[in-house]
Amino acid sequence: MNYKDIAELLFPSVNGTIADLEKEFPIRNLKKEACVTRFAPSPTGFLHIGSLYVSLISSTLAKQSDGVFYLRIEDTDKKREVEGGVSQIINTLKDYKIIFDEGAIDENKELGEYGPYHQSKRKRIYQTCAKELVSHGLAYPCFCTTEELDQNRILQEQHKEAIGYYGKFAKCRDLTLETIKEKLNRGETFVIRYNSFLDKTPTAICNDLVKGKIEFPTNQSDTIILKSGGLPTYHFAHIVDDHFMRTTHVIRGDEWLSSYPVHEQLFRAIGFALPNYIHIAPIMKNDGNSKRKLSKRKDSEAIVSYYNELGYPIESVLDYLMNIANSSFEDWRKNNPLANLIDFKFKISNLPKAGALFDLIKLNSVSKNIISNFTEEECLNRIKTWSEKYEPEFYDYIQNNEEVFKKSIPLWKGNQKRPRKDIAKWQDLTLNLSYLYKPSNAIEDYELDEFLSEQKANIFIDKYKKIIDFSFDQTQWFNQIKELASQLNYCCDIKEYKKNPSEYEGSIADMCALLRIILTGKKDGPDLYSLLQLMGLDLFNKRVACFKNNFA
Ligand code: GLU
Repeated sequence: MNYKDIAELLFPSVNGTIADLEKEFPIRNLKKEACVTRFAPSPTGFLHIGSLYVSLISSTLAKQSDGVFYLRIEDTDKKREVEGGVSQIINTLKDYKIIFDEGAIDENKELGEYGPYHQSKRKRIYQTCAKELVSHGLAYPCFCTTEELDQNRILQEQHKEAIGYYGKFAKCRDLTLETIKEKLNRGETFVIRYNSFLDKTPTAICNDLVKGKIEFPTNQSDTIILKSGGLPTYHFAHIVDDHFMRTTHVIRGDEWLSSYPVHEQLFRAIGFALPNYIHIAPIMKNDGNSKRKLSKRKDSEAIVSYYNELGYPIESVLDYLMNIANSSFEDWRKNNPLANLIDFKFKISNLPKAGALFDLIKLNSVSKNIISNFTEEECLNRIKTWSEKYEPEFYDYIQNNEEVFKKSIPLWKGNQKRPRKDIAKWQDLTLNLSYLYKPSNAIEDYELDEFLSEQKANIFIDKYKKIIDFSFDQTQWFNQIKELASQLNYCCDIKEYKKNPSEYEGSIADMCALLRIILTGKKDGPDLYSLLQLMGLDLFNKRVACFKNNFA
């Protein structure tokens, strides 16, 4: 068979060779240990939290080894593409400070010598490689229609045979030059398939750097490498791009592991060295009694923008993801609360083999720590930026009441000596600070109970509002509270109270709790004197009125 003529017939305008491409994209001049990694999203819009996780791992590996991290846009499936999908992904990654050394850094701008970095612009490169495979009889054009392929599948299912394009089902494997010419003249469309018949290697071995050695039977179905428009399938693009972009570590979701035999086969056929592989276990979620992957369709927390909308600082999300990636991170962070994430010595071998469960409680706890370490100014700036975009009413409140708002920051954030961990995300503030932000709104869930009752609260506040004095210092204020406690039969000596609780309305702590509930709705919260100072008479009156309305 004259394979060269077939190749010429199929790709008349392709002049270069693989050897030319090797020269065009030379081995990178980097030190031996440098990792070249990539993030290779398809522009289908939203960025999945799992993709942020994989790109965090990839960029960390590249940065820590003085390597290169690049962005490749996998846009060969025009049907699935979403308008603006590329910019959305690029901008979200930028927000998360995932910085690329090269690649499709902007919708229209590329950086680096190994491009183009949009697969849709790399047709020449894929076709050069495919032509060479055809010219060696390793690939061939397939003209089968969807109906014919469906027919194959039905027969295979009926006879319980493996599904695929092989053996007697591979009708186009040995078409002659003449037949191919005729079909082309008739305008029949074709794809290019790799000819797996020639592969006699029994097994495909994947030495995954995390999952270890995994053995598969060699692929025996003729994989499509070029689709009918001449663009590659994922499988072929992966081989060609990761080779010519000189990727050293392919880090991708482990849903690709089952395609590994196809990839290994193609790498071998074309004569390219295999890269290192790290197949990342997905982030999972409990669903009834079983676990499943976080799904873009079902779970709002699967999409990165969800965290931005709620106002999680990006540092919190990144720290949380690094926690999943390497369990030793948690201790490191405890000892280095202010250190830059990149200074953590990330280890490939510590990546989890199985999918970690997404844990919102853990994320919140990580985030509370991060927020408690921000300066007050940082908090203010971030809250403003967040609320302007996502909570305009809260933004207006801050703009109009900046001084009071600023004073509230140490109340919920604490200070270095005594950090408070009330806030996991900026949206929490809209509830947590409702006593400032929406003072006249009724709080439906005042934390009253049988003991700290509405009746006790009313008796207390009716007296207290008559004597409250905002000019008192803390000692004067507390002395007045103590005096009132004695009048109302609340015990100021906790030991004494514990001995004879039935003789009192409660302790002084209970009386303070009543005041706090009236003002904020909650039993716990910041220091009461500071809270009153922050509120001032006007807000105090509003809150008391609000409490009264609620129990009218
Ligand atoms: N475009 C593929 C995806 O989005 C990339 C997989 C890979 O990293 O190789 O799943």
